[in-house]
Amino acid sequence: MIEKKLKVEGVSSIVKQSEKAPDDEIVLSENTLRPETLEEYVGQDEIKDNLRVFMGAAKKRAEPMDHVLLHGSPGLGKTTLAFILAKEMGAQIRVTSGPALEKPGDLAALLTNLKAKDVLFIDEVHRLRPQVEEILYSAMEDFCLDLMIGKGPSARSMRLKLPKFTLIGATTKLSSLSSPFRDRFGNVIKLEFYSENDIEKIIKRSANILDIQIEDEATVRLAKSSRRTPRIANRLLRRVRDLAHIHEKNLITHEITEETLKMLGVDEIGLDATDRKLLETIMEKFGGGPVGLSTISAASNEEESTIEEIYEPYLMQLGFLERTPRGRQLTKKVYNYMRIN
Ligand code: ADP
Repeated sequence: MIEKKLKVEGVSSIVKQSEKAPDDEIVLSENTLRPETLEEYVGQDEIKDNLRVFMGAAKKRAEPMDHVLLHGSPGLGKTTLAFILAKEMGAQIRVTSGPALEKPGDLAALLTNLKAKDVLFIDEVHRLRPQVEEILYSAMEDFCLDLMIGKGPSARSMRLKLPKFTLIGATTKLSSLSSPFRDRFGNVIKLEFYSENDIEKIIKRSANILDIQIEDEATVRLAKSSRRTPRIANRLLRRVRDLAHIHEKNLITHEITEETLKMLGVDEIGLDATDRKLLETIMEKFGGGPVGLSTISAASNEEESTIEEIYEPYLMQLGFLERTPRGRQLTKKVYNYMRIN
């Protein structure tokens, strides 16, 4: 049941950045392209090296890994990494998400069903309710579950022992996590945007799995428009493949790639209509900033969380936007870009 909920949660965040494909199709194709070992996981070399040491040490001590917190923009590979870590540790993984755990009892039920060395993966961990988060504190630190039985004056507390497990949390918004919670993770890992070279490797790998050929020039072009994000690279690849198939070809050419990106309104650095609307709003209505997030949200009709978690990180990565204490501020670089486009 909870796993089902996660799928739905996961899908909704994927859909935010993609065209309206049927949910099952998205989940299925995400799973098909998901690497299953650290070896297959492209890029993020430093992180992979650290994780190998970290896992090796835990295995030597015959203990579960310490808790891991993965943070970074959507689609950078947090879920994929959590599954890989569990697999490489030979552990079972239980999957849920912050919003799916509505009551402390939901989490208690999950925790009491864990076996020693299991991995509990909580996606969108910043969206856990405070009462649920509090239960995790003693579970993470002492492997104990503190429960209140009954209500009012006759209420009493009970402590249950839990097996030693590993919690892997994933979040797009580290700043929303309370510091006592954050401090309980032994390993906090930030996934960075990928290099274009790594995105090219991911596109080639996925094209191979999807059984379609792709010209080198098309791979380079697609990589440039993928916002340095594997999920977006895979999504664009599937759309380009659709068009190739419509042209009855099993080869993705540069021309087909150009045509698809034009149809999707994605430019050569990966910006789409919403990015351009946000940039134009700040530029034209607020003189380039600084301007607060809530004001940008009201003026552009986009949710604050969508701007903050999906659009802004890449615009900042491009050096187009800065977060200052007085609000969001455009840089000179963006004016040059907007003049040309
Ligand atoms: P997140 O949990 O950070 O939103 P996911 O782990 O769901 O991202 O990754 C989205 C998709 O991108 C996956 O289905 C996988 O196919 C692909 N992907 C992510 N990271 C990598 C990687 N390092 N190498 C190859 N493919 C990747």
